[in-house]
Amino acid sequence: MIFNIKSFNNKNLEKSFNNSMNELDKFFKLGWNTNKPNIILVEDRKTIDKLLQRKTQRWIVGWSRGNDIYLLNYKNYNKESSNIYSEKEYFKLLKHELAHCFSNIISNYASKPAWLLEGISIYLSDQNKSRKRPKELSNFIEFYECNYDANIYDESGFAVEFLVKNHGIDKIILLLKRLKEAKNKEEFKILFREIYGFKLIYDNFR
Ligand SMILES: [Zn+2]
Repeated sequence: MIFNIKSFNNKNLEKSFNNSMNELDKFFKLGWNTNKPNIILVEDRKTIDKLLQRKTQRWIVGWSRGNDIYLLNYKNYNKESSNIYSEKEYFKLLKHELAHCFSNIISNYASKPAWLLEGISIYLSDQNKSRKRPKELSNFIEFYECNYDANIYDESGFAVEFLVKNHGIDKIILLLKRLKEAKNKEEFKILFREIYGFKLIYDNFR
């Protein structure tokens, strides 16, 4: 597939990018100074489908690939997605995708478990504030594989918030660093227990 891209200036978006990079770098302690992510604005649904090489659902508005992030152009947001545009939420989306870039580097591009990787991006971009907080966590551990299920976003961010607030940042970074040691869901449970000292079960998230 061939794409035609050109550079583009937007002061607010650039400012939001710089703020997010600084805040995320503080969390991940990466010292990311060179080869920072590029933001690629995608014009329409048709181009998103061609870039991702599949028919995408209308709520898909951004993703990361390697160290770059792709966002549906805010100008076409209402027309080309099922979301309603707001600048605040768009900047959160930008930070969410940038957080994936940091997780990618720290975990050496691990893609599982999906709930952990999505949860980190949701939590760090403050998207929990835009979601309904569940009374108790009961539906995130199952989301191990990335299967484009919108329900993965319901509790993942709150689960990560629980881990960071109760058990600190260092442990979650260590978990990310060692993520690729776990080859499947069962091995991940063992790794999780080794790092946190408790089992990955819902009772331990209450
Ligand atoms: Zn994500």
